[in-house]
Amino acid sequence: MNVTREQMEIWDKEYVWHPFTQMKEYRGEKPLIVDRGEGSFLFDIEGNRYLDGTSSLWVTVHGHKKEEINAAVREQLDRVAHSTLLGLANVPSILLAKKLVEITPPGLNKVFYSDSGATSVEIALKIAYQYWQQQGREEYRARHKFISLTEAYHGDTIGSVSVGGMELFHSKFRPLLFETLHAPAPYCYRCPLGKSRSGCDTDCIKELEQLLGRHHREVAGLVLEPAVQGAAGILVAPEGYLTAAGRLCRKYNVLLIADEVAVGFGRTGRIFACEHENVTPDLMCVAKGITGGYLPLAATLTTDTVYNAFLGETDEYKTFYHGHTYTGNPLACAAALASLELIERTDFISGMGEKISFLSGALGRFWNLKHVGDIRQKGMMAGIELVEDRSDKKPYPAGANIGHRVILEARKNGLIIRPLGNVIVLMPVLSMSLSELEDMVNITYSAIKTVTE
Ligand SMILES: *Cc1c(COP(=O)(O)O)cnc(C)c1O
Repeated sequence: MNVTREQMEIWDKEYVWHPFTQMKEYRGEKPLIVDRGEGSFLFDIEGNRYLDGTSSLWVTVHGHKKEEINAAVREQLDRVAHSTLLGLANVPSILLAKKLVEITPPGLNKVFYSDSGATSVEIALKIAYQYWQQQGREEYRARHKFISLTEAYHGDTIGSVSVGGMELFHSKFRPLLFETLHAPAPYCYRCPLGKSRSGCDTDCIKELEQLLGRHHREVAGLVLEPAVQGAAGILVAPEGYLTAAGRLCRKYNVLLIADEVAVGFGRTGRIFACEHENVTPDLMCVAKGITGGYLPLAATLTTDTVYNAFLGETDEYKTFYHGHTYTGNPLACAAALASLELIERTDFISGMGEKISFLSGALGRFWNLKHVGDIRQKGMMAGIELVEDRSDKKPYPAGANIGHRVILEARKNGLIIRPLGNVIVLMPVLSMSLSELEDMVNITYSAIKTVTE
């Protein structure tokens, strides 16, 4: 079909409702319409080239149009595009499950597939809840609640929103949500306990312990994003936080649910963020980077102990009655297998060390910009928090739309990034070269300078 750019723009504004987007504002701007991708770049339908500084929403691992992944998907396409996992098996989903068990923390031996990060979290919550319901001890059946962190983001379905902690996204839906207990986020720049980094003994962990002490008899699990609370603005947890949280879960006999949706598959410099502190959760959610950024796929992994609690005769009703139509889709699993092979085969993970150090070095210069309040980085994810006034950390008002203005400025210079409120997020494609990373950082620097000074 030969359609002009102008026509595409009209149809986009007429028919498409974009996620997380104020459509009134969007319709007043010239949309960027992606036509194709290659490596670290996306091209719009006019042929303009942009560095993909969001990894197409945190998913792209080996770059766009990666030959090996393309080939794997094509090959699978010639066999079968989809068949159901409800009562049947398919080849790529078996091979991928085996691979996931091999590369995730030891003890995670079972894989339940779904198709998005949100569903992987819903599944973890429902498994955790049902697990306690199926224990012999009567008192365990009172475990109906979850603990999550303030500022947490676990997806947009009602269950995952219930364990979310971001006022902006979640407060509107409060009447629809189930009750969740919140422990303070380890957000050191704006500590919810009013501490400063120097005068703090990870007091947020003490709060978590108190919460568990008071409520553990009614708590099924603690759900958290290991190492980095991503959507909250790349909030990097202090070292030891995850270890301490894991220890508390064991002490109080509460399941630990690690939401690795954003941080999994190399993003933080390890294949999984839990590896930084050698923590094995009871349930682990993975999605975003799993297919290398190709197709929607997610998985919830768990231990034999949890899985075994669901075994029984049909009329014992211990079955996990949950499933999505496209669960274990063969095309998506084939893409994931090819992506994981690339992660394992090459010096992919070890080679990231140099890029991560380069990024930290390059980000140091941003302190020269007087509206930069905080710079946070873990591996290949970074957040630059812009403030109206650095001395008192006064945020820009929402109406200033500062993040959005910065990313539009960057776009003029050939970089696609996306802000989280006043936080400018850098989420480079993991395979970006050092010189591409340098371009990404330089364009971002100038964009912040132009908009804020
Ligand atoms: C993106 C994200 C989700 C939701 O994933 P979707 O695929 O968008 O449903 C859940 N948890 C975390 C930590 C995320 O970053």
